[in-house]
Amino acid sequence: MDTVTHVHDVAIIGGGPAGYSAAIYAARASLDVVVIEQGMPGGQIATTETIENYPGIEQISGFEFGQNLQDHAASVGVECAYGVVSAITRCEDGSFIVEADPGSYAVRAVIVATGAKPRHIGFEGEERFAGRGVSYCATCDGMFYRGKDVFVIGGGTAACEEALYLSRIARSVTMVVRRDVFRAPKGVVDRMLAADNIEVRFETSITAVDGENAISSITFRDNRTSEEHIEEFPEGSVGIFVFAGTDPTVDLVRDFVDLGDDRGVVTDEDMATRTPGIFCAGDMRSKHLRQVITAAADGAIAGMSAYRYIVG
Ligand SMILES: Cc1cc2nc3c(=O)[nH]c(=O)nc-3n(C[C@H](O)[C@H](O)[C@H](O)COP(=O)(O)OP(=O)(O)OC[C@H]3O[C@@H](n4cnc5c(N)ncnc54)[C@H](O)[C@@H]3O)c2cc1C
Repeated sequence: MDTVTHVHDVAIIGGGPAGYSAAIYAARASLDVVVIEQGMPGGQIATTETIENYPGIEQISGFEFGQNLQDHAASVGVECAYGVVSAITRCEDGSFIVEADPGSYAVRAVIVATGAKPRHIGFEGEERFAGRGVSYCATCDGMFYRGKDVFVIGGGTAACEEALYLSRIARSVTMVVRRDVFRAPKGVVDRMLAADNIEVRFETSITAVDGENAISSITFRDNRTSEEHIEEFPEGSVGIFVFAGTDPTVDLVRDFVDLGDDRGVVTDEDMATRTPGIFCAGDMRSKHLRQVITAAADGAIAGMSAYRYIVG
């Protein structure tokens, strides 16, 4: 571990919307704050082309939004550090050591905002078309498929609810379900099936997508016979939404917190965990709506909770 020479009030792990919002609120409350981020500023949102659902900003690129978050934090005195955090240790006096590569930080409180990752399923072309034909968030990207045909992969509650959401935007929605049943409550399934532009292909998987600049062919497998067939589409006329679950990034705090059914961190409404001085915010929490605005709101609350924790 590196020698620590300076004690910050708060270390914020993760430079996404939750982390930077927490930083802005904590720094404006005059705390000494460091944000430690392992990649580019903005987190998941920096990888998306356009954001169109953040109130007050009609449209902005994800990259620009991420950069703005960092610039805003820096302008109010936040130290924005690069580092991969590998461990949090609680000292006997209740303070913490945050170990990162590079650097280690002695702090009075920690806000963990390490986000979540939508589960990818691994069909051929999935990574190549992720964000430009293959999506993991209907609330985020549904509008880009207005009047188009979309395929929804998954048979759980999220897949059914998102298919219904998409049916109000897209021309048609085809659910592609690996097994011969849905894994969602009957009420959710019935509501979804009542939409007249949703159809279901049971015991079917998508094994590949292809195209020049956008998806123009999809390979389907019949899981009963293992036979595959390819369907062709005009380029840009179809989208695929994958709902195979979300993995909150909780490894750093596993020993300090409780996890919910979705394996996200359980906090109280002040973003406090069961360990005094450790707060969690954003997509890593157990929650229903993982969006920039909910992450930012969590962050604001966590920043002020850390302030109250420190000043007593
Ligand atoms: C493709 C896509 C499109 C989306 N579009 C929209 C949209 O249009 N509108 C919308 O509201 N939401 C959208 N979302 C959802 C939105 O991006 C998330 O809800 C939001 O980014 C969550 O913010 P967060 O700060 O909780 O986590 P994240 O954005 O995931 O940020 C977490 C950060 O923590 C860092 N980190 C993790 N572990 C460590 C570690 N050990 N050390 C250091 N750093 C670490 C990560 O590098 C990451 O930068 C989209 C998501 C995706 C994937």
